[in-house]
Amino acid sequence: MRWTSECKTTGVAAGRRRARPLWRRPVLSASALALLSALLLSGTPAEKRLSVYSVAANYSLPLVTREGRDYVGLLELLEPLGTVNARANGQRWRLRYNKVDAEFQAGKNRARVQGRDADLSAKFLMENGRGLVPLAAMSALLPRFLGGPVTFHQDSDRLFIGSVATHFTASLAGDNPPRLVFNFTSPVSPSVSTEPGALRMTFTHEPVVAPASPTLTFGSKVIPAATYSESNGAAVVTVSSSIPVMASFSSDGRIVTIAPGSTGAQNGNPGTPPSQPGGTAETSGAPKGDAQQVFRRYFAVVDASHGGDDRGEALGSTLLEKDLTVALARSLRQELESRGITTLVLRDSDSSLTLDQRAGFANGSHAAIYIAVHASSSGHGVRVYTSLLPFGDDDRGPFVAWTNAQHASLPLSQATAAGIATELQRRQIPVRTLTAPLRPLNNVTAAALAVEVAPQGSDLMQLTAPDYQQLVTSAVATAIAAARDKLGAAP
Ligand SMILES: [Zn+2]
Repeated sequence: MRWTSECKTTGVAAGRRRARPLWRRPVLSASALALLSALLLSGTPAEKRLSVYSVAANYSLPLVTREGRDYVGLLELLEPLGTVNARANGQRWRLRYNKVDAEFQAGKNRARVQGRDADLSAKFLMENGRGLVPLAAMSALLPRFLGGPVTFHQDSDRLFIGSVATHFTASLAGDNPPRLVFNFTSPVSPSVSTEPGALRMTFTHEPVVAPASPTLTFGSKVIPAATYSESNGAAVVTVSSSIPVMASFSSDGRIVTIAPGSTGAQNGNPGTPPSQPGGTAETSGAPKGDAQQVFRRYFAVVDASHGGDDRGEALGSTLLEKDLTVALARSLRQELESRGITTLVLRDSDSSLTLDQRAGFANGSHAAIYIAVHASSSGHGVRVYTSLLPFGDDDRGPFVAWTNAQHASLPLSQATAAGIATELQRRQIPVRTLTAPLRPLNNVTAAALAVEVAPQGSDLMQLTAPDYQQLVTSAVATAIAAARDKLGAAP
């Protein structure tokens, strides 16, 4: 992204972006770039993970692949479940879990557990004193330690210890507007992403299991169906819809209601962007003092800027800003969620969203903070933008003008931006904070920022490196976590 400097001085409402192709030097061959963008598009250079669900804890562990087989560290797997220690001695690896003793031997397919043989289906590995067990052995091996049954979903790397499954039903309630109501047997806290035609809930930390049929149909034109699938340590429920829908949570997370994002429109709820593109004189504010029906569920909304036909800046012949922003948004979501901050990612795929739609989702979700993510070839390090609002746009009674929606939250946005800059400096990343009349920041009622990431030096490919992305997103997440109380207390 790039804004011309005259935007700042004249207060022009729309930030202008010039997509400047970078012809200067081919940093990598076209095929290498194509491969990189394929990696970016398909998500992270996907680390395989095992998700474990038990009464004691739900957690996930990285898997390692050796000779085409998936392995997991047995000590790490058992650690959250009881008292465990392990000791390597030459080729032998001894482990004690609660009162169960086991002995493994590097390169051997069999182990001894409580003095009895256990088949591992493939050889046990030792790496730097760490004991690695073939994942395929879990169903047979774990009950020997735990004394109870386990269920292993091998295709999706999900391990259920005991009777911990969370079941759900889904049914349509009302038809004008239609609401799809999910009832879960335990509280859930999925990652939610939206795109035209679908809303996706990804359950990593919850033992959600399939309904009787993986495809549920509801006979509604607006919300025709939902499908269930599992992969890489997660369960995914995808709700198809003919208009944008949003998820809200109630009953401590046991009920998830999917409904059109514009249900508050009649009350002037800012969940609905103005219908006129540009929406100059449109009022679209929240009536102050009106009881908010929507449970504030997502603390943060992370917006992967650009997408679809809007490629953003062309950083190379096949390296596009719109792909980098998705990778950065996912990285930021992971960093925020690991700090206990619930996060909604807008645009988790290559789809088009207008600026009004983005602001509408941010406002309709009642999140405490909105962060737009951009990538750039110009400059070094990170630029953190807050809104420069148009002048002379008075607050009109109970409604907030669409172009000035950011007004009340601006001090909080600026304080958070300053906190982010401090965290980035601490990590030796060059950073600047700026104000610009940016859309959709102007239109967001909550604290709102744009984070634009450039390489530290002149190597553009640094933008694609997960390490660098994480260095930046962890700084942003740390600052947001530190400001959590102030952000959460904002009206
Ligand atoms: Zn951009």
